[in-house]
Amino acid sequence: MHTKTITELIVGLRAGEFSSEELTSHFLDRTQQQKDLNAFITIDRDATLEQARAADRALKQNEANLLTGIPLAHKDIFCTENMLTTCGSKMLYNFVSPYSATVIEKFNRCGAVILGKTNMDEFAMGSSNETSYYGPVNNPWDRDRVPGGSSGGSAVSVAARLAPGATGTDTGGSIRQPASLCGITGLKPSYGRVSRFGMIAFASSLDQAGPMTQTAEDAALLLQAMAGFDERDSTSVDKTVPDYMAELDNDLKGLRIGIPKIFFAEGLDSEVAAVVEAAIDEYRKMGAELVDIDLPNSSLAVPCYYVLAPAEASSNLSRFDGVRYGYRAEEYKDLNDMYTRTRTQGFGEEVKRRIMIGTYALSSGYYDAYYLKAQKLRRLISNDFDQAFEQCDVIMGPTAPGTAFKQGEKTDDPVSMYLNDIYTISVNLAGIPAISIPAGFDKQGLPVGLQIIGRYFDEARLLNVAHRYQQVTDWHRQMPAVER
Ligand code: GLN
Repeated sequence: MHTKTITELIVGLRAGEFSSEELTSHFLDRTQQQKDLNAFITIDRDATLEQARAADRALKQNEANLLTGIPLAHKDIFCTENMLTTCGSKMLYNFVSPYSATVIEKFNRCGAVILGKTNMDEFAMGSSNETSYYGPVNNPWDRDRVPGGSSGGSAVSVAARLAPGATGTDTGGSIRQPASLCGITGLKPSYGRVSRFGMIAFASSLDQAGPMTQTAEDAALLLQAMAGFDERDSTSVDKTVPDYMAELDNDLKGLRIGIPKIFFAEGLDSEVAAVVEAAIDEYRKMGAELVDIDLPNSSLAVPCYYVLAPAEASSNLSRFDGVRYGYRAEEYKDLNDMYTRTRTQGFGEEVKRRIMIGTYALSSGYYDAYYLKAQKLRRLISNDFDQAFEQCDVIMGPTAPGTAFKQGEKTDDPVSMYLNDIYTISVNLAGIPAISIPAGFDKQGLPVGLQIIGRYFDEARLLNVAHRYQQVTDWHRQMPAVER
């Protein structure tokens, strides 16, 4: 059962091959067996099975939606009523939200089952899932390696077939980069496509939720359920959600693929480059045309992001003060001392580093030099994409500069860690959608992802382009040997 895609599981559930309860307990058992992957922070077996039984009743009474009875894993950044939501931090080690995020509510309304909450980098800050208070997540393709981050637990849950699908969030690459490093499909939708209500904020102008699945077809199914306007999130856009499934099979003849030279320049691993070039060649065989494009400012995306994202984070994280919710230092002299000790003890190193950088960039005297400059640069980076999309329909390149690296390899060198997002970050700065799909392996057998970037709100095309590739290749069906 665990090797099936969501689309296949829907068929099986309806044909009565298995019940949602059987399916759900199978995944829960696998998660228990694969505990050393550390993919989950919270699992509530009884509550989960209760949901599965309710789904089975709905299926019997023909009151079912497409996703009824499908178990899904959720990144621990989404608030869930009656369940812990830690965001990977000691600061929220005891936090139970009084309400659920819109994304969670939407899946609940569809009858999907919550398998558990997945491990993640603390407050979604990281590219290796090593900053979690709950310990690192291990990559199932090689357990000494990182799964990528920050949605590492979600990526591993799908890669190791502990869940047929999962949710993630992407502020600078956190859906696409772990998808690439774990050999799964991960879609970051356009900014405003999916509601951020109840999703713990990291950098509000960049954060966006999306699906992580085996296939693009499954990603289409999950996005269909997640997308749409929400009056509780003023940045969600009131725009009709298209029928993503209906567009999947469109022909790719004449599709213009933009190839940015800068994405293949120095810093890209040669084996990754070879895999990505072979994937693009596959598209050429399907009738697509390749066009050279320029993204002149994208080499500045990483420094631009590392001013803006910490600035927003330093403001967003000011709410964790020991007064309202979560951790509070046990001993303190007075209110100020309580704040200081709570934040000193509650936040990890990387989160503190970001708060300090952000506070610095926003302080008077430095604001114009850093924050304002970065905002202007953000506009230039976004304009580059607008111009590129006059010449092409989608842009292709690598998702990450290398494959999964060893745990501990980059922890002492934040800049080399930050550079892992060199190809993903400009997409967040521009607010446009992008997907990472499995495209092959390096010589060590580690997965490589192909990134496909689209126009604002053109998710349907990305899913179509990804789906057609998955019909002529089977990289997305490969799973780690130890898990069979
Ligand atoms: N790795 C990037 C960071 O640490 C992106 C994280 C994310 O997308 N949430 O900021």
